[in-house]
Amino acid sequence: MTVQDVCHSMETWAPLSWQESYDNAGLLCGSRNQTVRGILISLDCTEAVVKEAIEKGCNMIVAHHPIVFKGLKSLTGKNYVERTMILAIKNDIAIYASHTNLDHAPQGVSFHLANKLGLINGKVLRPFQQALKQLSYFVPTESAAKTREAIHAAGAGNIGNYSECSFSQTGIGRFTPNELANPTIGSAKKAEEVNEEQVQVIFPAHLEKGVLAALFQAHPYEEVAYFVTSLDNTWNEVGSGYVAELPHAMDADQFSKHLKQSLGLSHFRHTAWLGRPIQRIAVCGGAGSFLLGDAMKAGADVFISGDFKYHEFFDAENHCTICDIGHYESEVMIKDAIHAYLSNNFSTFAVLKSMTNSNPVSYA
Ligand SMILES: [Zn+2]
Repeated sequence: MTVQDVCHSMETWAPLSWQESYDNAGLLCGSRNQTVRGILISLDCTEAVVKEAIEKGCNMIVAHHPIVFKGLKSLTGKNYVERTMILAIKNDIAIYASHTNLDHAPQGVSFHLANKLGLINGKVLRPFQQALKQLSYFVPTESAAKTREAIHAAGAGNIGNYSECSFSQTGIGRFTPNELANPTIGSAKKAEEVNEEQVQVIFPAHLEKGVLAALFQAHPYEEVAYFVTSLDNTWNEVGSGYVAELPHAMDADQFSKHLKQSLGLSHFRHTAWLGRPIQRIAVCGGAGSFLLGDAMKAGADVFISGDFKYHEFFDAENHCTICDIGHYESEVMIKDAIHAYLSNNFSTFAVLKSMTNSNPVSYA
């Protein structure tokens, strides 16, 4: 198994096209052809984490936060980013980051935060738009089933809990091959009419190349008639944050204890409790203040995230209670999820969780 196999596996879960425009997720250093001897999973990739990887014989690090974020103009070791990169490169350690793409992925960071709190009946708080496309193509009726099977296998036709979704209608296809054509049906310069099916499916935009390749492979024609359309549809399984419910409503005291206990917190910052039962909870791993409006619209009693600024706390007014539990604390559980995912997909090398506490923030 190579570094590229691990990248591919991570990107099947969290495609790079789902990252925010400012982000830098993906393979940050190392050769894609290198054989993986062991993976170390961490939230941040720091010098201490690279040293831990060396000690444990791991030659790949899979982190949530990209150590290289703003771009590097030199590599002289003048700060921790450069020193981390130099140490990794000198020791042939590949560094991979799955960041905002993993925030947005199904069963991503916020999902696992909600899970850790024992929340149920959840859904994505701000689902993606414009991440789905529609494929419509024309195929001789007798070959329609074969092409549908091929594009389904490539990831087309999934809607929520339903797979192999498509719509067909039948009609007449017409064409005239020229003298250079090599038609499956008909002959040069002779107008042809064929009983055809028009098949329509929806597919994730990032799978377009593979879906079209599968269609062309399975389709009997030399020239496939098709069109791809971008959609404005909401994709409910993919997006930012998560909103779900406690199995039983709690008062502020009970909830506060539950929050600390579930996540092992010594303390957290919050706005005023609203004096109403707490049941509906919105969460966002990391810096989630941009989702406060969505949390209030979703009727959340509490919004749990990290990195709120002083003035942002005022925005909750009396609509919901903000609980700022800390950036690290709201995301660290993703290590377990990455560990479970990679261990499940790879058995030829060790997949380890980093024991380094990379949180730069301490509480006195
Ligand atoms: Zn983060």
